[in-house]
Amino acid sequence: MAEPADSPNDTSNLDNIAKALRQALSSGLTRLEAQRLLLHSLGRPLTDRAWLTSHVHDTLTPEQAQGFTALCTRSSQGEPLAYLLGQQEFFGLTLAVDPRVLIPRPDTETLVNWALTLLPAAPGSARVLDLGTGSGAVALALKHARPSSEVLAIDASEPALCVARANALSLGLDVRMIASCWLEGVSGVFDLIVSNPPYVRTGDPHLAALGHEPLQALTAGADGHDDLRQIIAQAPQHLLGGGWLLLEHGYDQAGAVSMLLQAGGFEAVSSRPDLAGILRCTGGRWPAGGKGTERAG
Ligand code: GLN
Repeated sequence: MAEPADSPNDTSNLDNIAKALRQALSSGLTRLEAQRLLLHSLGRPLTDRAWLTSHVHDTLTPEQAQGFTALCTRSSQGEPLAYLLGQQEFFGLTLAVDPRVLIPRPDTETLVNWALTLLPAAPGSARVLDLGTGSGAVALALKHARPSSEVLAIDASEPALCVARANALSLGLDVRMIASCWLEGVSGVFDLIVSNPPYVRTGDPHLAALGHEPLQALTAGADGHDDLRQIIAQAPQHLLGGGWLLLEHGYDQAGAVSMLLQAGGFEAVSSRPDLAGILRCTGGRWPAGGKGTERAG
């Protein structure tokens, strides 16, 4: 039986840009999403929205129409736009993303902003470690903003490191990236350790909406604290006295993370809110003269 004319799988109607956008809107996409998917299907920069508006009568080739329809269908089935477009903006950088990595969230900019307040803006090199880098978002944003810092990023997932290394290369940012399970494979000491680790509880109902993203980057045991606990336990051996550990965590985990940091010997423990005003990051300073390793050369 023929598809109804307004079916998302029917491309016969999409002979020009105006019709393609109309159909995408009727399938539930916002105007911005539809415009970005259409620009992607036309092989144009995603910033070219003004071009679309002035070319509403331009015709699509059958291949373009089919490609666009397929993307709209995948979007209406819940696939994140960032994966469909193959990119996500984070802290002013365009990062390539695919299902090997978590999509960087705007909330994680809280972690970057806090880290930047601790890194000297004047030339002078600070050593920074990003744990569980995924697409490389946090490490690359820090290196971009503080080029004189020496940034090391680790991830337990080799496929994720492929994405992160490709991002470093295409952005021309010199960040060293190695495979390690938290700090097990890391040597040396740092002025600052940052991490956006997995922190969602196993079985959390929010996971249903995150089914396209790598589960290992999201979940961390029954209370969501497994990885946070490991990082807090391991970090002191790799922090200079006076160095900071900053952690992103779940919307209701600031109290627990503060307690873990205090119990682990950190001082000046405090939290920072995300864009929605939710305490999203908690960090602390390793005491000068604490048991962390001294800077070796
Ligand atoms: N902030 C993400 C979310 O809840 C989770 C990221 C993480 O586990 N690090 O969608």
